[in-house]
Amino acid sequence: MSHNKVVLASLQRACLIKELNAFISIAQPQDLSPSRSTDRLNGFTVAIKDNFCTTDFKTTCASQMLADYNPGYDASIVEKLRKEGAILFGKTNLDEFAMGSGTVDSLHGPTKNIWGSPLHYTIGGKERKSKPSWRIAGGSSGGSAVAVASGTCRIGIGSDTGGSTRNPASYCGVVGFKPTYSSVSRHGLIPLVNSMDVPGIITRTVDDAVLTYNVISGHDPKDSTTVEVSPVKLDDKFNLNKIKVGIPREYHCEGLSQEVLEVWKSIARILQEAGAKVSQMSMPHTSSSIACYSVLNQCEVASNMARYDGLRYGHRSSQCKSTHDLYASSRSEGLGLVVRGRILAGNFFLLQRNYSKYFEKAMKVRRLICEDFKRAWDEFDILLTPTTLSGAPELRQFAGLDNREQCVMNDYCTQPANMSGCPAISIPVALNKNELPLSLQLMSKNYDEETLLSVARIIE
Ligand code: GLN
Repeated sequence: MSHNKVVLASLQRACLIKELNAFISIAQPQDLSPSRSTDRLNGFTVAIKDNFCTTDFKTTCASQMLADYNPGYDASIVEKLRKEGAILFGKTNLDEFAMGSGTVDSLHGPTKNIWGSPLHYTIGGKERKSKPSWRIAGGSSGGSAVAVASGTCRIGIGSDTGGSTRNPASYCGVVGFKPTYSSVSRHGLIPLVNSMDVPGIITRTVDDAVLTYNVISGHDPKDSTTVEVSPVKLDDKFNLNKIKVGIPREYHCEGLSQEVLEVWKSIARILQEAGAKVSQMSMPHTSSSIACYSVLNQCEVASNMARYDGLRYGHRSSQCKSTHDLYASSRSEGLGLVVRGRILAGNFFLLQRNYSKYFEKAMKVRRLICEDFKRAWDEFDILLTPTTLSGAPELRQFAGLDNREQCVMNDYCTQPANMSGCPAISIPVALNKNELPLSLQLMSKNYDEETLLSVARIIE
């Protein structure tokens, strides 16, 4: 398809799915420059989560605080995508500052899932088997996942701190890939938890995820934590004969639905029949991961959000009689409840009298979780787990929960990979009786993207 036809098709699709509220901004056709046929991403439309800085769109983080923020530069991965001919189609919705698991807590309103929705049956041309209802897209990169699942864009870029790329990918029936921490630059990604944030890739196929990873990965002088990595090459002759797959018992957690349990078992069986050696194993500190993450997250949030003082960036209140007033009213007007709650909790954990009780203890627990992974990699190449505990919950029901409950339900399986930094991918594997996608997660040793993606390609 020619460049113009691709753009037109994406624009038409974006109009059809407007009700899903996936995009915060969309490029004007005349601003989309054509690429060369030799470019690796020639003709690929890309949807970028609105917490990556871009020159030609505002970067709002779905927050009043940055509602008019124009950073004036491109995040390093955006630069790399452009250089390879990708068409930057638009910026997508998220939970405010990527704090959430549903894309329900945004200045721009919630993003809705295409699956199970009235639109699924009208534009998807599907025969209606079950009653349509609005479901969450998952989060916090819900907008990018819907952009890909609806066929509007070929690539979605998300961020992943505790599962925010894999979770919406799972609910939206697409591939969601979190590379190894430090293999992809965070320069220009507005931080949530600096020690865990990784740009994530959302696509319809593993091959597209590989292509995108090869473009955006590698050392970036603007992010000192990044390293050089070799490009992933998938071998069509790859087989599972030498692959050892671990099934961690602790991921069989409270709240795991029967339907996900069934697909988990059946994919394990399929891998075994295809030649892999599949066995149960233990990751004993898994259940501590959520509490530990929550402390570390809130501490880093408290410190990262200090920059929004009404002076240097973003919203400035007009209600101020003193400097203290200026800080206080700009922050209370500009930041939502979830963000303010996390700042308060984080500052409490960081008080001198609490520091060792919470922050230091959480760091120690994080080390224990990392050691679980280290031991696992001595014996296994791949860990196979659920991504989310069920198909996408109904929007009404989910939005009624508080943010902490939402994250506890949703991040259990995804979050440990961010603690250890290992690569992880969510792959859709089945549809449930309500015709909602169910997905599983694969994890591998840090920097072993090649094994991870090779096995993922066999499952998809
Ligand atoms: N749900 C988690 C949180 O709210 C993870 C978010 C993310 O990965 N960006 O912190």
